[in-house]
This record gives sequence, structure tokens and C-alpha cells, in this order.
Amino acid sequence: RWALLASLILMILVDLTKITLPLLSRWLLDDVLKSGAETVSLMGQSFTPTRALFYFAVITMLFNSLGQLFLGSSTFILRRGSFAMTDSMRRLTYEKMQQLSQQSLQKRTSGDLLKRITNDTRSLGRTADYLRALIEKAILILISGTILFAVNPLLAVLALLPVPFVPIVVRKFFQRVHLLYEKMWICSSRETSTLHDIIKGIRVVKTFGAEDREIKKFSGVGRRLMDVSIRADRFWALANPPTRMLTFMGELLVTAVGGYMVIKGIGGMTTGVLFQFTLFAAFVYEPLRWMSFLPRVLAGTSTKLLKIFELLDEPLTLPEAQNPVREPIDGGIAFEGVQFGYKAYEPVLKEVNLQIRPNEMLGLVGPSGAGKSTMINLIMRLYDVDQGALQIGGRDIRDYDYAFLRENIAVVFQETFLFAGSVYDNIAYAKPGASPPEVMRAARLANAHEFILRLPDGYNTQVGEDGHNLSGGERQRVAIARALLKDPKILLLDEATSALDPETEGKIQQALERLIKGRTTIAIAHRLSTLRHADRLAVIDNGKVAELGSHRELLEQKGIYYGLVMAQRQMSAPAPAPAASSAAVPQTP
Ligand code: ATP
Repeated sequence: RWALLASLILMILVDLTKITLPLLSRWLLDDVLKSGAETVSLMGQSFTPTRALFYFAVITMLFNSLGQLFLGSSTFILRRGSFAMTDSMRRLTYEKMQQLSQQSLQKRTSGDLLKRITNDTRSLGRTADYLRALIEKAILILISGTILFAVNPLLAVLALLPVPFVPIVVRKFFQRVHLLYEKMWICSSRETSTLHDIIKGIRVVKTFGAEDREIKKFSGVGRRLMDVSIRADRFWALANPPTRMLTFMGELLVTAVGGYMVIKGIGGMTTGVLFQFTLFAAFVYEPLRWMSFLPRVLAGTSTKLLKIFELLDEPLTLPEAQNPVREPIDGGIAFEGVQFGYKAYEPVLKEVNLQIRPNEMLGLVGPSGAGKSTMINLIMRLYDVDQGALQIGGRDIRDYDYAFLRENIAVVFQETFLFAGSVYDNIAYAKPGASPPEVMRAARLANAHEFILRLPDGYNTQVGEDGHNLSGGERQRVAIARALLKDPKILLLDEATSALDPETEGKIQQALERLIKGRTTIAIAHRLSTLRHADRLAVIDNGKVAELGSHRELLEQKGIYYGLVMAQRQMSAPAPAPAASSAAVPQTP
């Protein structure tokens, strides 16, 4: 605000320096350049015409230099202000994105968010330029208009005739062109999303040999953007000439009527007065012509501003409690009649009742798509339950302070995400400020230390974007180390060891056996042998807990779990079962 004000004051000074030339031009033409004159007077002083010409050059030069200085300072101050504004807007939108729930973020494409946070906030800086120019030009019209009236009221009326029409035309065109700019924004966001998607999935594109198809798809999206841009510009090409014609007609009227008055000697009109008048009139027309570009500029910036504020004003769907709790969590988790669906009309969990004791290890099994990962999402409070209640440590999960809740929970997903950076940074992400021995201890527990030391730069090796310099199993071990470094009260493992070979998995299982002591662990695994240390197993099926009990109890029930164990035994059996295998109930999963 201050930068805008300061730069505006400097711009008004620039305007004042600009008017020295027309102010002196009448004196120059009518007195200094009059043939035969011996002395010329200015402000009570007399000079020879040559000296007066010299003074004219010096004064205009001085004011021009001053004007340039003011202009430079004004632009610099405004730029600084607008960079600061862009920066704070970028920060605000980014903060908002971080606060939005998974559900809200999922509704948007990556292109949509990228565009709002980077591109749209950047154009906000340019808005300050336009605002300054608009105010400055309005002031210039006001000053010059007043002088025109002082010089010759009749000509002034003619010269200012087009002024009221320009804002009307600008407004009309703005309303029409705004819709086209909204379409352009959507097309451009689609283009960014497509690009983002294809860059992320470039391996799939290449393995399916779909490069040509993707080139066509991207060109199609680009062409749609081009078509709308051309439509906006065609409309613009039609809209701009009338405004320019209006100002040209004003100039023509002034020259014709003023010229006629000089020829006929009407109202004391001289060449000097007319010249001065046309110079001042130019100070009115130049801003009017600039305003004819305004609909386009306004439509562009207002669309972007709307998009920014749409994001900033989006209500938070996971509101934090008024007095968030930060009391130590004992690790007990209770699902009580929990119903939840990603879409309101399609419940994934229909009626889940499950009590998990503090420090218990619970294995979640069940068919694919049954809702196991969804239960983990609810425990992390990425979503809120639709009905029923989810309690942690005897309290509703919604009562806890977000950050505190997540400090106490660590999760390892099947699909590991690593940030571009070093292996060390990726492990230490869980605990900013962790010491190197702590990081290495976590890596050792996750059976990652040895492979990390074999990497070219050890812990400093760059993992690349998405960690693609590491193998799937290595990435998973880094993720396990990251979770262990956090030393959480609740550990959630969602197919956390699925990408490991049996030997490495065995080692990690041993490590986990030690680690699960003193914390509540929920592990999802399709490879049932992974869950051999589980105290209890819960079979999730059709949105409910279908079976619950120890491995042995569930086998004895001969229900879904029994079927899963049997199916896996058959799958992993290298040859038909030997005759000796007559036990009806297997001893281990
Ligand atoms: P799997 O064993 O294959 O990992 P799961 O039991 O963990 O499966 P969930 O990932 O919880 O299953 O998914 C349960 C259901 O919810 C599925 O039908 C899935 O399509 C749907 N689903 C999962 N995540 C989302 C999401 N973010 N938005 C909409 N639907 C989702």
C-alpha cells in the first residue's frame, strides 16, 4: 500500500514535469520565434531571443531529467512493492493449500493448483502497475482538462467530447471479454495438468509406445487454448478501434476548429495557443488510448484474482477443535459404528466396530478394495468419519491438535514417496534437527544402512525426483527408517514391506518385532506371513469387520481368513502338497 502511494506521488510529479513543455511552447512559438523581435520577456525578465531559446532548452532539459528521475524511482518503488505482494500472495495460497484436506485437494487437478500458486499470484504484481497507471492517468486527464478549459473553453469542450464515452465502451467490452478469459484460464490449467500428468507417467507412456498419442493429446489441449485465445483477441480487435476512433475524432475536431480560429483570428487564437492546446489535448488522449487496452488487462487480472481468492476462501473441511488437546496418547484406538465414504452416496466403511488396545499389534487383512487403507486414512485424520466415532486414547480424534496427532503417528505406505534430495534428508524429514547417529540408527533398524553405504555418496546420495535413483525395495526401507526415526506411539504399515525380497523382509520383520513393543501397530498385508507377529487379526470385508481374533482362532473359524491362508498356501506351493501335509489347521500363516 505504501509503495503504491509513494510511487503514485512520484508519478504525479512526473506529470507535472511533463507539462512544462506545453506551458512554455506557447511562449516559444508566439514570442521567441516571432521574426523581428529584439527582446523577449518571461516572468518579468527580458532576454534576447537567442538567450531565451537557450533558457527554453535548459529548462525543458532540467524538467525532463527530473521527470526521468521521478519515473525511475516510482517504477523501482512500485516493483519492490509488487514483488513483496506477489511473494506474500504466493505464501498465502501455498499455506492454504497445505491446510486444505486431502478431500478438498483431490477435487482439484495439479495443474489447477500449480497455476493458482505460481502463475496467478505473479500476475497480481502486475495489477499494481495497472492500478498506479490508472490513477496517474486519471489525474493527468484532470490536470490537462483543467488547463484546456483555462486556455480555451470552447475548444476544451470539443476536445473532451469523447472522454465520457470511453469508460462506457470499456465497461461493455470488459463484461463480454471476461467470460472468454475465464475459458482461457480453464484451458490453460488443463494444459498444465496434462503436462504434469504425462511427465509423471512418462515411463508408462514409453512402455506402451504411446508417445504419438500423447503428442496428439497435448497438441489438442494446446489447440483449444489457442482457439479461445484467438476468439478473445478477435473480439478485442473489434472492440479496440471504436475507442481509438473516438479519440482520433476529438483530435481532428480540435485541429479543424482551432485551425479555423487561427486563420480567421477568432478569440485571439494564435499558432502558439493552438500548438499548446494540442499538446495538452495529447495528455488527455494518450491516457484514453491506454484505457482502451483496459478491458483486456482487467479481464486477465480479474480472472486470476478470482482464482486466487477462490482458493483462499475455500472453507476447511477438517476443522480443528476450539481447544485442541495435546495430552499424551496411550495408543488405544476405537472405531465405534464408523461409516465413511469418499463420496457421500458410496460408503466404503459401512459399520466398523473395532477396539485396538494400547501397544497391540493388529493385522488388517481382507480382499482388495475392502477399505483397509481407508481405515488408516481415518486414523491419520486425512478424512473425518461420516457417522459413528473414531477415538484415540479414549478421546474423539477431532479433539486433538492436528500437528500433535500426527507427531504421534507414523505411516509407511506401499507406494513410497521420496522428495528430491539426499537419502539423509529423506530419513531426517520425520524429525527436523535429528542428529546423524539418530538417523543412522533408524536406517540400521530398517535394514537400510548397508545399502545406503554402498551408494556412491552414501547418505548424501541424491535420490532423484520421486526417489527414482533407488529401487522399489530400497525406497521402502528409506521410508521405514523415516517412520522409525519419528518414534511414534502409533505405527501404521500399509503394505510396507511388499516390495522387499523374502530375505530382506525377514530381517525387517525381526527389526519390527523389536520395534512394535511399546507402541500400537496396525499392519496391512496381503502376504499373510508378514503378520505372524500380530496379536490379533481383523478381516475387513464388505465395509465391516467380518472376523476378529488370533491367527489360530480365525483358522478354526474356517471363514474368510482360512480361505485366504489356504489360497496363499496353494499359490506358494512349488509342487503338489506332499502326502504328509494332512493337518487341517496350518500352524503358521
Ligand atoms: P487394497 O488391498 O487393494 O489396497 P484396500 O482394502 O486398502 O485395498 P481402500 O484403498 O481402502 O481398499 O479402498 C476402498 C474403496 O475406496 C475402493 O473401492 C476404492 O476404489 C475407494 N477409494 C480409495 N481411495 C479413494 C479416494 N481417494 N477417492 C475415492 N475413492 C477411493
